[in-house]
Amino acid sequence: MDGLPPPVAQVAIDSAAWTQTDRIRWPSKDAFVLVYVGASDSRTSLLRVSRDRHEFRMGQADDHLVVVLGLEPGITGGEEALDFLAAHESFHLAAQYYGSRIPFSYTEIDERVVKAYSMDERLSRVYDAVDEMHRSATGGNTSPACDELAAAIGSMEGGARTYFTYKAFWEWPAEFYAYTTAFKGSLAEYESFRSRLFADDVGYRLFTSGVKVAEMLESRLGRNAWQERAVRGESMLAMFSEAYGCGLQLDESPTLTVLNLELPAPVGH
Ligand SMILES: [Zn+2]
Repeated sequence: MDGLPPPVAQVAIDSAAWTQTDRIRWPSKDAFVLVYVGASDSRTSLLRVSRDRHEFRMGQADDHLVVVLGLEPGITGGEEALDFLAAHESFHLAAQYYGSRIPFSYTEIDERVVKAYSMDERLSRVYDAVDEMHRSATGGNTSPACDELAAAIGSMEGGARTYFTYKAFWEWPAEFYAYTTAFKGSLAEYESFRSRLFADDVGYRLFTSGVKVAEMLESRLGRNAWQERAVRGESMLAMFSEAYGCGLQLDESPTLTVLNLELPAPVGH
């Protein structure tokens, strides 16, 4: 691509962790995502990122899929953290935007809703419920009760529920993919890494709960089956609710295909 330095990574999607790689609509012969680390003082506008907050930008530039990581506030975990984030963000772009149908209800979210709920401690009731089900399943219970999780989600106010269902749709598959490729199933190591990845991040349990939900989904449905449903636009939360009898009502149709995700210009600093 004109005027860009070499990327820090070219990230392919691993078909062992994501069985649906043949569904990815790569815009050119490249079957990988170009990953850049941005800088707040970059002379290339595409690579210019915020100095004060973490920023992840992605989309198609010419016929390449590009991810820009804005990490100036810092990350913990060094090279491993960079690889993990590159895998997570590349998955959003290639496997989700360019490889799955997206429910219309999850195409957009009001940034004010994200701000209001991403650090909301009240969501911890949901994450506690997932943790408890996962603990029970790991202990050998093949039918852990979903009542507490269903009650926790049922009691959410509208904005919190919008935030949670939207984020679960996008983040859970991406997080499980990065976890699988980077940690190869070592949950304790991953959880400790994830809790420290960003300083002061009380919202990280959204992500760790997604990994636990995915493990429980796989033990019921198998990897290929849930991932086939995911590319058709079904969220992991909806599949989980059905598989474990949680009785959640989610409005996830109709779905659409994203033909071209434009790489957004840098926003204010
Ligand atoms: Zn993400």
